[in-house]
Amino acid sequence: METPKNPLSIDYRIREGLGRIATAMRVDDWNRAKLIGVNPTQLSILTFLESRGEDGVSVKEISNQLGVTQPSATESISTMERKGLLRKQPGQTDRRGVTVVITDAGADALLAADKLPTMTERSIAGLEKDVQVELLVALVRMIRQLQQADSFPVQRMCVTCRFFEPFAHADGSSPHHCHFVNASFGQHDLRIDCREHEQADPAYQAATWKAFTQG
Ligand code: SF4
Repeated sequence: METPKNPLSIDYRIREGLGRIATAMRVDDWNRAKLIGVNPTQLSILTFLESRGEDGVSVKEISNQLGVTQPSATESISTMERKGLLRKQPGQTDRRGVTVVITDAGADALLAADKLPTMTERSIAGLEKDVQVELLVALVRMIRQLQQADSFPVQRMCVTCRFFEPFAHADGSSPHHCHFVNASFGQHDLRIDCREHEQADPAYQAATWKAFTQG
């Protein structure tokens, strides 16, 4: 039994904490999804499609991103297609393939869902700014580790982007450089899912990561 003198490991307790946050996020997702007449999986699909724009994504990409089976993703896609929230179109690179794209109605529904204040957002907003930045950096590090272990689909984060140059500037508040927009930015602006992201080659990623973690 855990006591103050005999605590469980910090690894275990962090996982416990993340589990509690995940529970709150699931409740948030149910409330947001209910507001627009979908379920949380369907809401996640809409969010993913919105972030991928007009080119759309394949069913396989959707199932990988959400960690659900392809039949389950296909069923959700068909349901939302009937509701007019998304549509299928021929793939851009392979005419035999099909990609899925969010419709204007889907984007409007997502916007309405995103306006609902959530418990998670309120708890994040209650943290001091420097704690928010520390949390963001810790999440970036955890997500990268999961990606390295092939436990997670590729995320469009700065730390894996070919445009990212960490700690390129002496300015402590804006030390990083984005070569896509040719501008400096701070830790608080690190992206988890950037539309302009382009995957860097492994050697550049390794060098970037070293500079980022040692900076
Ligand atoms: S393009 Fe996006 S992901 Fe890449 S460095 Fe710039 S902000 Fe980060």
